[in-house]
Amino acid sequence: MKQLLNENIIRSKDCLICSAPKDKGIHLAGAFICDECERNIVQAEVGERRYAIYIDRLKKVRNELCERIDEEVPR
Ligand SMILES: [Zn+2]
Repeated sequence: MKQLLNENIIRSKDCLICSAPKDKGIHLAGAFICDECERNIVQAEVGERRYAIYIDRLKKVRNELCERIDEEVPR
């Protein structure tokens, strides 16, 4: 039982970008991006094909983030 619980806590997450289950990475607005993809995103140049793919994926996160900000900040 104890072992089961531990596995649940440290289970890897699916990366938003590469969809692979990874242990290390960052959490961004509820999304998970692995270390490797984070590095790739930072190194990608504007105009590169992969850059467009990253931006497209990150847009989804941004939208989520904007919605949350709208909810949290009263106007
Ligand atoms: Zn990844």
